[in-house]
Amino acid sequence: MTNSQNNLDGTVAVIGGGVVGFFIAYRMALLGVPVTLVEQAGPGSGATGNSAGNIQPASGDDDAYKITLGAESLALWRKHLPQIKEAGGIDYQEQDTRYLYASINEDEESEVRRILDDVQAAGLHAEWVDGPTAREMEPRLSQSITGGMLHQDCIQMDPKLFMAAFANAAEAAGVTIQRQVQAVGLTVAGGRVRGIKLLDGNTLECASAVLATGAWTLRVMSDWLGYDLPVEPYGLQKLHLGLGMAAPLNCAVRWNGVNIVCRRDGLVHAGSRFDPAGFDSQPSPDTQRWLLEQVAEIMPGFKPTGVQNIAAFAASTPARVPLVGRLPGIDGVYLSVPSTDGFLMAAVLADMIADLLVNGKTHPLMKRSPLAQAKPR
Ligand SMILES: Cc1cc2nc3c(=O)[nH]c(=O)nc-3n(C[C@H](O)[C@H](O)[C@H](O)COP(=O)(O)OP(=O)(O)OC[C@H]3O[C@@H](n4cnc5c(N)ncnc54)[C@H](O)[C@@H]3O)c2cc1C
Repeated sequence: MTNSQNNLDGTVAVIGGGVVGFFIAYRMALLGVPVTLVEQAGPGSGATGNSAGNIQPASGDDDAYKITLGAESLALWRKHLPQIKEAGGIDYQEQDTRYLYASINEDEESEVRRILDDVQAAGLHAEWVDGPTAREMEPRLSQSITGGMLHQDCIQMDPKLFMAAFANAAEAAGVTIQRQVQAVGLTVAGGRVRGIKLLDGNTLECASAVLATGAWTLRVMSDWLGYDLPVEPYGLQKLHLGLGMAAPLNCAVRWNGVNIVCRRDGLVHAGSRFDPAGFDSQPSPDTQRWLLEQVAEIMPGFKPTGVQNIAAFAASTPARVPLVGRLPGIDGVYLSVPSTDGFLMAAVLADMIADLLVNGKTHPLMKRSPLAQAKPR
């Protein structure tokens, strides 16, 4: 579709250059829409660059709805990645990853089997394996593992390298990127957005604005627009562990809420643990000890050679459901804020926003978004 065929009549401004903002801008540009993306720091400088880079449906405490949404997003990632890779010109170290959702007792087994049912119902490739089969695959796993779900429909990549590549691909597709430019408000006239106010005093004129501001969304919505939206910065701490001379792990493991995944460059990510400090999350010795204990318990044969503790934050939304769609009350304003699995969800959120802006279509899975109830104070 070219710009002359779509329903838009001017520039779309995207605020926020994380994976969500970039995916939206990229998709809109491919549809021929003029797009400018405004990012206060650099591409991926928020939650995105600090994430584990897992595109992993069912990564958390997800119900069938979230797993279906994740499966759709994974399929979209698979569709778009070859072109992003080619246009991006950077090897972001992606790999297909097998994730063992391990269980060590009957309670855990029944919970993992419930997830397996939902994962299979969503059309994803996963199966049950017993303990000996799991250890045959990865001998460093614990003898206490009685079985688990082997989830084979995951991709993992270096998120910082990916965002460098994605920014290149977006520019090549026609996105104008304004780096180190902070948005400080919207210009609204006649009930419709007309522009984005910038910290340097300029205004970026636009016909529509998409807020992809992640954990900053609460501040944006409250300070700029007077809305109360239940989005909180959600502190998370993770470890980067060295492998030393050991062979790469043969599979990733998820146990007790912790993902252990070996990147293609040999760095092992272990995380994450919630930190109520949100924006002020700091690496803490207690969390480092706790995460190392989880790794040692489920994978005692892996002896990390070096430990780096990283504190970051994502956004949390009610029931971990993305806030996505048109903002009631001001024409031309859209939101796209995922919860703590936004790397996975970026592709489907971009599809939803693009289809809504260009074709006026509401994706059926958007109906669960709590955004429809948003009201100014
Ligand atoms: C430790 C950790 C591990 C994670 N692992 C995974 C994982 O493996 N898989 C997964 O799916 N998810 C993971 N997540 C969650 C994931 O990182 C986020 O959900 C996702 O990156 C959110 O993307 P986003 O673009 O919405 O937000 P962000 O990446 O935070 O981007 C928002 C951007 O908006 C910019 N911004 C904000 N306000 C303004 C303004 N006023 N003007 C201009 N720019 C502004 C910020 O600078 C920022 O770059 C993890 C998160 C953490 C912290």
